[in-house]
Amino acid sequence: MNILVINAGSSSLKYQLLDPETQKVLAKGLCERIGIDGKFTYKPEGKEAIKEADVAMPTHNEAIKAVLDALADPKNGVIGSMEEIDAVGHRVVHGGEKFAQSVLITDEVMAAIEECDPLAPLHNPANIIGIKACQALMPGTPMVAVFDTAFHQTMPPVAYTYALPYEYYETDKVRRYGFHGTSHKYVAQRAAAMLGKPIEELKLISCHLGNGSSVTAVDSGKSVDTSMGFTPLAGLPMGTRTGDIDAGILEYLMGRYDMDIKEMLSVMNKKSGVLGISGVSSDFRDLEKAGEEGNARAALAVQVFEYGVKKLIGSYAAAMGGVDAVIFTAGVGENGGGNRASIVSGLEFMGIKIDPEKNKVRGEEIDISAEGATVRTLVIPTNEELMIAIDTAALAK
Ligand code: ADP
Repeated sequence: MNILVINAGSSSLKYQLLDPETQKVLAKGLCERIGIDGKFTYKPEGKEAIKEADVAMPTHNEAIKAVLDALADPKNGVIGSMEEIDAVGHRVVHGGEKFAQSVLITDEVMAAIEECDPLAPLHNPANIIGIKACQALMPGTPMVAVFDTAFHQTMPPVAYTYALPYEYYETDKVRRYGFHGTSHKYVAQRAAAMLGKPIEELKLISCHLGNGSSVTAVDSGKSVDTSMGFTPLAGLPMGTRTGDIDAGILEYLMGRYDMDIKEMLSVMNKKSGVLGISGVSSDFRDLEKAGEEGNARAALAVQVFEYGVKKLIGSYAAAMGGVDAVIFTAGVGENGGGNRASIVSGLEFMGIKIDPEKNKVRGEEIDISAEGATVRTLVIPTNEELMIAIDTAALAK
């Protein structure tokens, strides 16, 4: 089955054509600067990537058309025609409390996704535009929505309720939702396979550490707590986001610098995190380099991040009454051996201990636990596209 996976942003669109049964990726790429000057990247399996600038892409419709044309191109295409695409899986950021699972897209589903727009005003409208563009070009092809929030809908009220007046939950849906659900779900399933145990018998802590980061407690295959909240601003300090801070700071800084709430939130989303602390970069590789060259603020930024992850591992072990394995995934989790070592150092009392040699391995699934560790530490490259394609194929059948 050929599944086209679409991840549409406001001015960009990532795509991948893959077969979830064989896990073979036929082609993938990216449309950027939609509505500006259109950049198009297409990489067919086993061939060099093709990059084109100034491609006419005034809207997402032209971007999707360019993707379909490239996929079915006589020279560099990977399918004979559009009819060979069996279904399309769309990443949708926010499904609110309506969607605890992926769903086949109908008119009712579209309306329900649109109702979630106020919860993710930057993301959901772009996801909807991507869906509509595909529907216009592939009217007969089944479309599926896969939500970043869905996996976390199993959280109990004790984990998702904020200590605000309860009406704000009842009337305004203010609660913890959590994000990166597709990634946490995927790596939790892979962890169970690696450990050779049914997921129902495992307590896992999944650390998705990338540009955006979140940690999730997965008990018996279900998300029971996660560090992101009502929005993806919460939890850990990230590349450019604050993560959790004292809300009292907002009024204090807004008063001192005459900022309105939009400006304050822009600081918190775009100028904070490890970029804000270091003043150097949001990229962990740059920070590692600067730290090694003696930049104390760059080193501190990384330490604040690592300390945050360590504390979440401790608190989620407490929340679940134990832990069988800690999983590291996404850019930093998969590649940052030094980051992983710092995060777990001092957790030996919990039975967590890694082997320094195994911790050097990159980009593959590996158990990096040291001999005698009673809690496994796993590195698992995430694959959100595959997870989306698996759900899409199952629903489209
Ligand atoms: P996104 O959240 O945008 O999907 P990624 O999961 O791709 O982000 O993660 C990007 C982050 O991973 C960057 O900060 C990058 O520096 C970091 N990263 C990539 N390789 C390494 C490495 N070898 N060591 C530490 N961090 C790394």
